[in-house]
This record gives sequence, structure tokens and C-alpha cells, in this order.
Amino acid sequence: MIKVEGLTKHFGKLEVLKGISTTIHEGEVVAIIGPSGSGKSTFLRCLNLLEEPTGGHIYIDGVDITNKKTNIMKIRQNVGMVFQHFHLFPHKTVMENLTYAPMKVKRMSKQDAEKKGMALLEKVGLAEKANVYPTRLSGGQKQRVAIARALAMEPQVMLFDEPTSALDPEMVKEVLDVMKTLAQSGMTMAIVTHEMGFAKEVADRVLFLEGGVLAEDASPDEFFSNPKSQRAKDFLEKIL
Ligand code: ADP
Ligand code: MG
Repeated sequence: MIKVEGLTKHFGKLEVLKGISTTIHEGEVVAIIGPSGSGKSTFLRCLNLLEEPTGGHIYIDGVDITNKKTNIMKIRQNVGMVFQHFHLFPHKTVMENLTYAPMKVKRMSKQDAEKKGMALLEKVGLAEKANVYPTRLSGGQKQRVAIARALAMEPQVMLFDEPTSALDPEMVKEVLDVMKTLAQSGMTMAIVTHEMGFAKEVADRVLFLEGGVLAEDASPDEFFSNPKSQRAKDFLEKIL
């Protein structure tokens, strides 16, 4: 589904990604773990071209998205993204947040978009919030709306950048539960997270980034019980 080959990213003289290669298969759930500043967000943002890679290639479904001729809008439709700070449209209701892109980008009728929107809100347990504005929602509810909004575009892949890091502790589970259900439904997912329990339980694979290098690419079992690199050992010692 996603094939990354020798991906590099520079910000000026700063080399943030130093040649990352990996493959994320269809239906796979990959947890991306690593210290702050290691390049996790940059890596994720390269996958939907929110950052332009400096070098290397990223193929999504066989299409090289680093090719200048690739239609960025099409890629973004295909690759949904959920951010730490939700990024909902504050001046739109929950339902309007969900129907905006399908109507605008996919030219879906309002009726169809709302029908789909309601089904998605039911899925994330927020059907009764369809007509409220985001300011009336808790953090956990906002993030569940953000997930539903991304799903409204029917992406093939979902990217999550620390989706629970901005939440009060009691709201983390409701968001992780939605993500777990999504994972079980077969969605291909890449998740930057500090929730090690979730990574252990839900991920098929762990990517450990350190200083812009993919220091480990392993099953959760291998990674958490027997990490190969000293860097991963040090990291796990600090957090577990
Ligand atoms: P992580 O998500 O693992 O904490 P990031 O990918 O956000 O790491 O950042 C990796 C490095 O790249 C950091 O040193 C950060 O300061 C730098 N960086 C990220 N975005 C930019 C940017 N837009 N301009 C310059 N430097 C950046
Ligand atoms: Mg980050």
C-alpha cells in the first residue's frame, strides 16, 4: 500500500529524515515511536505531502507521490490525517465539518454527504452532536469528530499524529477505542503515539525513529521484549 524508499527531508541545513525505507501493507497498523524531535511528524507529513520530501520515493498504491506530476489533492483525498490538536473548523457545526470536503472536493450532494456523515457519527458515538459547534465538545469528542471527518473522504490510509497527546487522561480511551475499531475493520493505519499499551495491543508493527533514522522496524513483541538497537533499549528503559 505504502512503499517508502530512501526518504530524506531537510529543513535548510537540518537533515530531519536520513534515508527511511519501509513498507506498510494493506490493512496493516503501524505504530511510529521515538523521542521528541526524532522526525516522527515529519515522516507522517511526508506521506500525504504536507511536507515535500527532499529525496527518495514514496509510492502509494504504486503511484510515486514524490513525482512532481502527481496530483497532491488526489493523494490527500486518499490519505486521511488526524492531528494532535484536532483542527476542526470552529465556525462549522459537527455535521458541516463532516460534509464540507465530500461536497466540495467529491461533489457529493448535501443529502448524501449528511447521510454518510450521520453514519460516521454513529460509528464514533456522537450522533447526538451533529448540530453543535466544536467549542461545545470535550477534547475526546473533538478528536472523534476529527476521525469521522477524515473517514468521510473514504481514504485508503489513515495517518494519526499523536491523536491522544492533547487529551485529558480520562478521554484517551474513548479515542483509542474508536481507533481500535477502525484497525479491526481493516483500515491501513500509521499512528505516531506515546501510548505503548495501545501500540502493543493494536499495532502489527512498530517503527522506531531516532535522530531521523529508522532504528527499528519490528513486530510489537520483538520491539518491546527484545529490541535490537541500543537506542531503542535506552528509549524503552526511560519510558517503561
Ligand atoms: P517529532 O514529531 O518526532 O517530535 P518532528 O518531525 O516534529 O519530530 O521534528 C523533527 C526535527 O525537525 C526537529 O528538530 C524539528 O525542530 C525540525 N522541524 C520540524 N518541522 C520543521 C520546520 N517546518 N522547519 C524547520 N525545522 C523543522
Ligand atoms: Mg511530532
